[in-house]
Amino acid sequence: MSKDAKPNLKDVALQQLGIAAEHLSLDSNIHEVLKYPKRALIVSLPVKMDNGSVRVFLGCRVQHNDARGPFKGGVRYHPDVTLDEVTALAMWMTWKCAVVDIPYGGAKGGVCCNPKEMSSHELERLTRRYTTMILDFIGPYRDVPAPDVYTDEQTMAWIMDTYSLFKGYSVPESVTGKPVVVGGFRLREESTSRGVAFCIREAVKHLRMKAKNTSVAIQGFGSVGWNLARILHEDGYRIVAVSDSKGGIYNPKGLNPLDVLEHKNQAGSVKGYKDAKQVTNDELLELTCDILAPAALENQITRSNASKIRAKILAEAANGPTTPQADKALHEKGVFIIPDILANSGGVTASYFEWEQNLTRERWSEKEVNARLERMMVKAFDDVYELSKKQKTDMRVAALMLGVGRVAEAIKTLGLWPS
Ligand code: NAD
Repeated sequence: MSKDAKPNLKDVALQQLGIAAEHLSLDSNIHEVLKYPKRALIVSLPVKMDNGSVRVFLGCRVQHNDARGPFKGGVRYHPDVTLDEVTALAMWMTWKCAVVDIPYGGAKGGVCCNPKEMSSHELERLTRRYTTMILDFIGPYRDVPAPDVYTDEQTMAWIMDTYSLFKGYSVPESVTGKPVVVGGFRLREESTSRGVAFCIREAVKHLRMKAKNTSVAIQGFGSVGWNLARILHEDGYRIVAVSDSKGGIYNPKGLNPLDVLEHKNQAGSVKGYKDAKQVTNDELLELTCDILAPAALENQITRSNASKIRAKILAEAANGPTTPQADKALHEKGVFIIPDILANSGGVTASYFEWEQNLTRERWSEKEVNARLERMMVKAFDDVYELSKKQKTDMRVAALMLGVGRVAEAIKTLGLWPS
């Protein structure tokens, strides 16, 4: 592999599984089972475009392991979606649900498309077609989709409606991250970022830092990146840089995320924001800051830029932002890494709350939701931190050991049939 080559995500996920298996002295049969998804569905989606032509999009849904509960995972719309990428993301969902100890297995879906070039009508037709093609394999007790990159609460409303139409009754518990009026809840959208912020708070405490003296650079200003900027700003941190797919902005004195959002809503990007220096996404990663939070796509921190990272804490809000070579280099440099399967597990935890409320037809208060999220995130952080101390490993290995270990235990308990 060349110096800058970005690794295949499935290879990364398998490599991580191997590391966890070695540290856990995992039964080789269970290791073998965990290498493969239980099911991977590939679908073709003919969609009538607004100009009358038909385009066929490729989609998939990968269900990795459900030994601990129904499959759960986001749906990603992106031109670079591949089966390998979705398989890795599904595997990470399995570990993530186990790390935060919620009764779900891991899944992920993806459609290879460019939503930025599609109208809302085209996206609706695509989403409904996709839902129909995976209908027999999803559902509240089978597999519950949620938003991911370039999908949102509207996408979830279309999935829920299509699923409900085929069932003949309303099934709000079939998806999470849907709009409040159809059974979603307001805090779901910010919950991933709130979970990242809880982890950052715990890491800052361990490193004896103080929020008010701490600067943060965030790559990505979508659902996770923007909410993280807003929450950390409210908590007293100084947000010095943010970016989106078009580029980034930097002001060492601090940015007001609300003003930046207003600019992005008007200009279509954070780029061009006044009172800030324009930087590229690559430059943003190398800026002087105390905390770096990648909140966009995978494979952003590689062997070639790891040595230039100056942050003390790397909070992986995105899935798979750091390649294994970069991970090793950062660890050797003493960077405190909050690994993705811990850092961004607040999203699936809040999805679990939403699902539970839909199943029981209850409504919890926002105070209750926040308190539960905080309790579960802090417990997950502490579990990983304690294990890393006990096993003398870094936080990523400890998180993998915790997640893989819990799933392996469930598989062992269920047994293999036919025996
Ligand atoms: P989003 O679509 O809302 O936002 C993605 C952001 O990344 C946008 O600001 C986009 O402009 C930016 N971006 C795209 N390509 C980029 C590039 N090449 N360089 C820099 N920025 C780029 O997606 P999201 O839901 O915020 O997800 C972001 C990350 O967080 C993903 O890795 C996702 O898997 C992960 N995640 C999301 C959730 C959730 O609840 N949404 C939960 C867990 C993990």
